[in-house]
Amino acid sequence: MELPVSHGQTDYNPDERLKRGFMEFKKEKFLKHSTVFGELAKGQSPKFMIFACSDSRVCPSHVLNLDLGEAFVVRNIANMVPAFNKANHSEVGSAIEYAVLHLKVENIVIMGHSCCGGIKALMSIPDDGSTSTDFIEEWVKIGTPAKAKVKAEAGKASFSEQCTRCEKESVNVSLANLLTYPFVKEGLEKKTLAIKGAYYDFAKGNFDIWGYEFGISSSLTM
Ligand SMILES: [Zn+2]
Repeated sequence: MELPVSHGQTDYNPDERLKRGFMEFKKEKFLKHSTVFGELAKGQSPKFMIFACSDSRVCPSHVLNLDLGEAFVVRNIANMVPAFNKANHSEVGSAIEYAVLHLKVENIVIMGHSCCGGIKALMSIPDDGSTSTDFIEEWVKIGTPAKAKVKAEAGKASFSEQCTRCEKESVNVSLANLLTYPFVKEGLEKKTLAIKGAYYDFAKGNFDIWGYEFGISSSLTM
């Protein structure tokens, strides 16, 4: 496997990089697995819907070694799921609606990660709630209940430790928000759908996953 290149190099050619990337994919995967890609051309039936951060270091298909067609993915700043709200956040709502009602995914995973800039932004919002960005802080405020919990439980811990805690707690906030979507709640009640929290620590190379059904249950660390 080719190791990641240094993106700071001066001779980095973005057009060449994309062209080379696609040609390698086509040669090594697309042309070698024509049956699989033939089936995928007819339709998709992914087992997972995954929420992950837009951070370039946490691509879930890469980290979890998922194949094309296996995961329906939403990526946004700090992997957040807002509560059901038709007036706002239709981009997230439409993805959940499509995944659950049309693709009938069996699992929704919300994957937090270490050193998350979005969570750092949330934790840095002043107590008066004032913001200085056009969009970022307003978006990450979805995780405010997680921030409040961390401040109450570990307000004396270092900022870095508080951020790490919030990276995990905000996943639980998003899991709770998922339950505000009627079709998600119904899927859980009928047991056609499971929702899980996850945390990828890319400094240590660890991945935690925990089940969630109206509260936290078992946890597995890898
Ligand atoms: Zn992030």
